[in-house]
Amino acid sequence: MPVLFVGHGSPMNAIEHNTFSRGWESVGASLPTPTAILCVSAHWQTLGTQVTAMDRPRTIHDFGGFPKELFAVQYPAPGAPAMAQETTTVSKHPILLDHEWGLDHGAWSVLMHLFPKANIPTYQLSLDIRMSPEEHVAVARDLAALRSKGVLILGSGNIVHNLRQISWEGKPYAWAEEFDAVAAKLIESRDVSALAHYEKLGTAAGLSIPTNEHYLPMLYTLAMQDAKDELSFFNTGIDHGSISMRSFILK
Ligand code: ZN
Repeated sequence: MPVLFVGHGSPMNAIEHNTFSRGWESVGASLPTPTAILCVSAHWQTLGTQVTAMDRPRTIHDFGGFPKELFAVQYPAPGAPAMAQETTTVSKHPILLDHEWGLDHGAWSVLMHLFPKANIPTYQLSLDIRMSPEEHVAVARDLAALRSKGVLILGSGNIVHNLRQISWEGKPYAWAEEFDAVAAKLIESRDVSALAHYEKLGTAAGLSIPTNEHYLPMLYTLAMQDAKDELSFFNTGIDHGSISMRSFILK
């Protein structure tokens, strides 16, 4: 199964028809049908790593100040409790089963364009807030084994994500463009280690990653690469000045 990283950006992309949502639709149409989808979302951070294991994950509207129609969105995909259980066994790192979470907007705002029928069993993996980027990479490397079991792994975050610097006129900041380009080069050279040590990548990296929860899902995706995978970028561009929408697929 391919492995995918998607820059999700604003929750409004869920209900807007724009270049980003159209990009997700066309990538979705090109994908094989997975047995399950595992989403690593920026929006689920926990103590310890967890996977959702319920039969019917609820659609979580984990944001405020958006229009009513966004709160009305439901993504009624079934859960994947058996695959969640299997996920705990392929990982050397302990992973706990969760029955409380569901699908947050990092997952459903993108999945409703990638898989609009919402008929594929879908579950989420949390980000352990105590782990270093390198530890996250180690978890991801174990979970890469799920690809051969028909699981499509979807990292959902943003490589550049600085909400304090949002510019509604949308002109990209120079530092956002600079770090997006640096990250793209390192992704192309599959240099997971350099990307995991982003604090060594200069001032632009610091401004682009004020907190790393949106960045880590990209590391998960890249760490799941296989030497035979081909990389393609899509939805490149900076939205609202400080959010890189750069996405990629490895297949
Ligand atoms: Zn987000």
